[in-house]
Amino acid sequence: VKKVSKKYESQAEPVRQAAVLGAGIMGGGVAYQSASKGTPILMKDIRTDALQLGLDEANKLLAGQLKRGRIDAAKMAQTLNRIVPTLSYGDFEQVDLVVEAVVENEQVKKSVLADVEAHLAEDAIITSNTSTISITALAEALKRPENFCGMHFFNPVHKMPLVEVIRGEKTSEAAIAKTVAYAKAMGKTPIVVNDCPGFLVNRILFPYFGGFAALIADGADFRKVDKVMERFGWPMGPAYLLDVVGVDTAHHADRVMAAGFPDRMEHEGENVIDRMFQLGRFGQKNSEGFYRYE
Ligand code: NAD
Repeated sequence: VKKVSKKYESQAEPVRQAAVLGAGIMGGGVAYQSASKGTPILMKDIRTDALQLGLDEANKLLAGQLKRGRIDAAKMAQTLNRIVPTLSYGDFEQVDLVVEAVVENEQVKKSVLADVEAHLAEDAIITSNTSTISITALAEALKRPENFCGMHFFNPVHKMPLVEVIRGEKTSEAAIAKTVAYAKAMGKTPIVVNDCPGFLVNRILFPYFGGFAALIADGADFRKVDKVMERFGWPMGPAYLLDVVGVDTAHHADRVMAAGFPDRMEHEGENVIDRMFQLGRFGQKNSEGFYRYE
């Protein structure tokens, strides 16, 4: 964990207009959090139904706050107005900072990053919410790699305080400082970390998922494992957590971790996460994972 330079931090202009690419579990959460804390955000996806899901999620969270009396109807409307859904890069020349949150696939991310860079002002900062993919590798797709770093939120974005800000080989201090400032403006606790597969938190979390998969291979019942971990004191067990994260996202991230740390993370044959992925049981996002959701 590194310190951000105080000199650059004090010089970082606040983000006035943000954008998020991908309106899924994470993109929708980032849009909601940014808007709630006052920074307008464009939310871009390639599918209208995905944009609608992102907006629905923001609506649901705000309706909950309205019901509990934490906000009034005017504040709810104002917050929703700060999220502008879009299928195009039309207004991106106004954007100060982008959070890329599309699928966990290096080639898809590289092509999306190169596309967005072409529509931004020269000094705009691009960040990626990748869970595991090297920031230095993703930066290869960019003309201005110095303006690029990781900005790794955790799920659900509105609840989880930590944000990892990841320094790639070519990332400038100014890019780190601006990203740290945006994370703070969103009410989060940023930590600056160096680049490696999984960064810091997922280097702990994915071996834990590996331990869970090994227990299942040895014949354990996932429901019982979840109950044990809840009694241990964790808010949820590993199977339920995989359903929340998205089994597809966890599977892709696990493969990146295995390639990065073959001696520690690679396993022989298919494990339960691979199997669930092959079955298309992605978790809460498609109503069927380890558990079923109505
Ligand atoms: P998701 O599957 O819920 O959403 C991905 C979204 O990206 C979809 O709406 C899809 O339509 C959209 N998309 C795909 N290609 C696109 C493109 N070219 N342009 C714009 N949008 C596009 O996935 P998610 O769980 O939100 O994960 C997104 C990223 O966040 C991944 O890199 C993932 O590793 C990371 N992440 C996920 C979690 C988690 O718990 N799910 C936590 C931290 C980080």
